[in-house]
Amino acid sequence: MRSAQRCLVPVVAFLLSLGAVWGQQAPNRPPVNDTVLSPNKTTTGGRAIRYIVIHTAEGSYQGTLSWFKNPASRVSAHYTVAKDGRLGQSVLDKDIAWHAGNANRNSIGIEHEGFARHGGWTEAQYRKSAWISCWLIRQYHIPFDRKHILGHVEVPGATHTDPGPHWDWAKYMQYVDECLKRCQAGTCSGKRIVVVLPSPQPGSGSSSGAHCHEQGGNGHNHDD
Ligand SMILES: [Zn+2]
Repeated sequence: MRSAQRCLVPVVAFLLSLGAVWGQQAPNRPPVNDTVLSPNKTTTGGRAIRYIVIHTAEGSYQGTLSWFKNPASRVSAHYTVAKDGRLGQSVLDKDIAWHAGNANRNSIGIEHEGFARHGGWTEAQYRKSAWISCWLIRQYHIPFDRKHILGHVEVPGATHTDPGPHWDWAKYMQYVDECLKRCQAGTCSGKRIVVVLPSPQPGSGSSSGAHCHEQGGNGHNHDD
């Protein structure tokens, strides 16, 4: 019995790791690393989401999450993406965040650590942000074009100028497009299996590996 049990251990561990992989694929939503809910929001029982508004935080990732948590700031956004790719959530999708004036009611706001006048957004940041946009588009049936994925500066009546001239719209829309195409082709999850299965540790790479465009263009495309 002892030797049989020893033989079973690696098999069971492998099957458990397979289960973990399959379980993570289903929602195809990037994992939220930090949930720091903001009091600055309008609660709804559900709403139509038609737009994604891109912002620059004009500060650090942690500073932005703290500012949104502060009732005195009277501002918030749904998501904040750090330069290292971490994803924070301050307002649930169904609730209205206070980030873009006239567009608040029907939009999701995504902040990006950094400054509009400096630029310097990282590859990890563009990819994680595009991934959450891709997921939002699929989840809420938001049209995929620049009329519906827009900068704060493009919101009618906006007094802000972010994300600014350094934001690479062509790259951003390309990453979202790549993700959407893979999902439409049913290969979102396939990407993940190829990347994750070689790992001997169940759960390893669970937050950094990924779906869709997260792996796009970095050498893991041989399974297309
Ligand atoms: Zn803004």
